[in-house]
Amino acid sequence: MNILDGKALSQKIKEEVKLETQKLQAEKNITPGLAVILVGNDPASAAYVGMKSKACKDAGIYSIVHEMPETISQESILEILSMMNKNPNIDGILVQLPLPKHIDTTAILEAIDPKKDVDGFHAYNVGRMTSGLDAFVPATPYGVMELLKEYNIDPQGKDVCVVGASDIVGKPMGTLLLNANATVTTCHIYTKDLKAHTSKADIICVGAGVVNLIKEDMVKEGAIVVDIGINRLDNGKLVGDVDFENVAPKCSYITPVPGGVGPMTIAMLLKNTIKAAKMRESREK
Ligand code: NAD
Repeated sequence: MNILDGKALSQKIKEEVKLETQKLQAEKNITPGLAVILVGNDPASAAYVGMKSKACKDAGIYSIVHEMPETISQESILEILSMMNKNPNIDGILVQLPLPKHIDTTAILEAIDPKKDVDGFHAYNVGRMTSGLDAFVPATPYGVMELLKEYNIDPQGKDVCVVGASDIVGKPMGTLLLNANATVTTCHIYTKDLKAHTSKADIICVGAGVVNLIKEDMVKEGAIVVDIGINRLDNGKLVGDVDFENVAPKCSYITPVPGGVGPMTIAMLLKNTIKAAKMRESREK
């Protein structure tokens, strides 16, 4: 069993991003800028935003967080987005999800300039990614693909089971794997027999948010298991969706939680922000 070490790879990517930031500054006098919109007091969202801001600072990326109260109106968020869309020093915009129930998430995401959409959630980028065109790719599945690449795991021709079908994790994960010529099965809460699908798979990518969803008898010998889930237990411990202790011995490769996909997500967000900063000149034309 080998560990897919997302922590180590993310450090490497962050160093590369830092060098690229220095180059952009030296050659084009551009400091990449990221604006984050955080609505409400959800501690997990605040923690993620804190991690993203710190990572930006370490990489030399300018970042600004617009904190808004839970009761903010949709119009007020749209106003801030409009300002950020016009601000030439802001290259990337992200809205931390989930948003409060009275806000139409789709309307908010669609209001972001697609050329600043570093989360890759705007339909423009989703469509381009699906067509295999250059696009901002959502950071979590993008991170999984980079992690597989680092360990020379080529999804081409492999049977892959994606568990979870959300717009931000499961669906883009399946799309990227299909674009890489894998045979993809996407499972979700309505899947009749999850085990029937996971136990056939060469690669399982699970992001459902359910502790111990993937157990030993659901994984074939030698499978590659990527655990995207992040769950906090009552004792404060972070775990994924895979029963790591019992599943790991059967795997050829597996990601730990923490230290697997989580750190990759932040690294890929930085990479997307650099990509957006490189587009600054064409955007301004
Ligand atoms: P979500 O709740 O929007 O979607 C969950 C998906 O899992 C749905 O498609 C649902 O049908 C499916 N699902 C739920 N229970 C299931 C079950 N018993 N069997 C099969 N499918 C089931 O969640 P999300 O935003 O996609 O996040 C999923 C998980 O990934 C969460 O644990 C989240 O914390 C984690 N996450 C991790 C990162 C990271 O950086 N590692 C980033 C984003 C999300």
